[in-house]
Formats: sequence, structure tokens, C-alpha cells
Amino acid sequence: MPSWIMHLVVAEGVAAGRPDLDVAEVWLGALAPDASGDKCRSHLKGPRYGASDGAPFGLGHFLHQFGPQLRDPKTAAFYVGYWSHLVADDLMAQWLYFSGLKEQLAVAGGRRILYGDYDRLNARLVDRLPARDVVHRRLWAAPQDVARVCPLIEANQLPTVLAGTWAHVNAPKPARNLQWLAAALVDGYFERAVVRTLEGLGGSW
Ligand SMILES: [Zn+2]
Repeated sequence: MPSWIMHLVVAEGVAAGRPDLDVAEVWLGALAPDASGDKCRSHLKGPRYGASDGAPFGLGHFLHQFGPQLRDPKTAAFYVGYWSHLVADDLMAQWLYFSGLKEQLAVAGGRRILYGDYDRLNARLVDRLPARDVVHRRLWAAPQDVARVCPLIEANQLPTVLAGTWAHVNAPKPARNLQWLAAALVDGYFERAVVRTLEGLGGSW
């Protein structure tokens, strides 16, 4: 549900907490769940994902299925990134419901306002990523072998996601301020997404 740039901001925080992992591979994993025509499957959401009703994803199921890959140094970075995407989506869904924004989407023009806010937020968040040349290098730096055998995604869709992310990074900055999304609230969101990703991987045990 968050944008690809938001997923990269979370991935940056996660990689900072896990310096043992290759950051480009963490990024690849953080974008990978959207490389699928079947988001219910790639997000471990079951059929309710399509209804966008805030259905929780299968955290335990993910750990159960990919525990060995999360511990294997050859695959850990990709799956930690993947995990961060699922956690970030889940938190965003909770936040939208809790803040009442989901209901506001139902009013006329609500969706347009929220998506406009996402664009404006993306433009600000680009500043939290490394310089453009580093972003470009990282997006295509990770060997995609792990992604190719990940059973949850369609790896042939990765180029589209990577190119789309690069396009967002280079989108012109919208002039208007945020209307619904409060920047302070969103900061808390990123912090939580990073902490919960790392904690879920055993950091707090
Ligand atoms: Zn997602």
C-alpha cells in the first residue's frame, strides 16, 4: 500500500540496523512483493487483500516458510527486505483505519486528495534516499537470482517495478503542501516500520 519510495525509506532504516546485509539486496526484497499479478499471494494476505479491508498478513506463515532463507547469508538480505515490505504495508493499513482516513476516502474526491498527498510525500521522501546515482546503481546492483526462485513473486515483473521506482524518484516535485497526511505522523510510521521489521526478526528476543 505505501509507495515504492516509502518502501525504500523503510529498507534504508532496516539496512542501517543490519549492516551485515547487502543494502542493494535488501532494496530488491523490499520492492519484490509488488512484482506479482497476484498480490494476495505475494503479500500472504489471502483473498481479502483484494478487498483492501485491512486484512492482516501471515507473519507467522512467512517466518515458517522462509526461516531457513532468513538465516542463510546468501538469501537473508532479500528476505529481510521482503519482510520489511509486508510489515510496512500492514502498519500503513492499520494507520489508515485508525486515523479515519479510510472513511474519508469514501467522500467525493477523497481518493484524489490522498493520492495527491502520497505524491507530495514521495517527493519529500526522495531526500531521505542517497544521491540519485547511488539510487540508480543500487536499484540494478543486486543479482536477481534469489528473487528468481522466490516462490511468491513473478520475477519477470521485477524490471517493471524497478523502472517504476526510478520514475517515481525522478518525478517533478509537486508544489502544494500535504492536505491530509501529517508529516509528523508519517515520521512515526517509518520509525515503527523499521523497528517492527527488525524486532520481528528476533532482535528483541
Ligand atoms: Zn505491498
